[in-house]
Amino acid sequence: MRVTVLGAGDAFSSGGRRQSGYFVEVGSTGFLLDCGVTTLLALKTIGIGAERIDFIAISHLHGDHFGGLPFLFLEYLYEKPRTKPLVITGPPGLEERVRDLYRAMYRELSERPLCFPLCFEELIAGQATTVCDVQLLPFYVPHQEKHVSFGYRVTAGGKALLYSGDCGWNENLIHYSHDTDLAICECCYFHTQAPFHISYPTIARESRRMGCKRLLLSHIGREVLERMDEVTLECAYDGMVLEV
Ligand SMILES: [Zn+2]
Ligand SMILES: [Zn+2]
Repeated sequence: MRVTVLGAGDAFSSGGRRQSGYFVEVGSTGFLLDCGVTTLLALKTIGIGAERIDFIAISHLHGDHFGGLPFLFLEYLYEKPRTKPLVITGPPGLEERVRDLYRAMYRELSERPLCFPLCFEELIAGQATTVCDVQLLPFYVPHQEKHVSFGYRVTAGGKALLYSGDCGWNENLIHYSHDTDLAICECCYFHTQAPFHISYPTIARESRRMGCKRLLLSHIGREVLERMDEVTLECAYDGMVLEV
């Protein structure tokens, strides 16, 4: 399994970092974990063709995690014409929100059919699904008040990966990181304590309880960047490639 960090920044693109997106390759299968507004930019900067994406798993419906989808649709319409289906998984409400976003951004185009089948799979926390031989197990994480936010445990090619999405600290991160080869965990804050994002001292303390072989902090916010000299856990950066 190879993971390329397309964006290690938060919604504010703190420090000039791009927004959330990870390109994961397992054998000949490629997929995205999240698709922030800057994801197509990242793919082209790094040199990953959008045709290599077989499916997309969305953690939650915040713009820095799914706002890049309309640009990918355009890419598949004009630049890299696509005929194979595109599966997008995510929390309940996924299809409506993605279609609303596409309509808001490209109204006339959105009224025409796409040149490829777009298949939405709205998932339920705790119920695994398999797409292209990749098992996705979504789990609930605390991030929004009314709407569901997921983390994912991804299993493929004999490897396991935990992706926290955006969340406050929660015990699911302990449970689902058990025996994973890599855990990508958000770290938005340093001194701010909030129930919907993780602060560095918390993850530094709790990381000892996580059962992952390697922990990578991402979705790095301004507070963390300002105090990087105090950070000893491994942090992601845009373009980072990890062989898992
Ligand atoms: Zn975010
Ligand atoms: Zn969010």
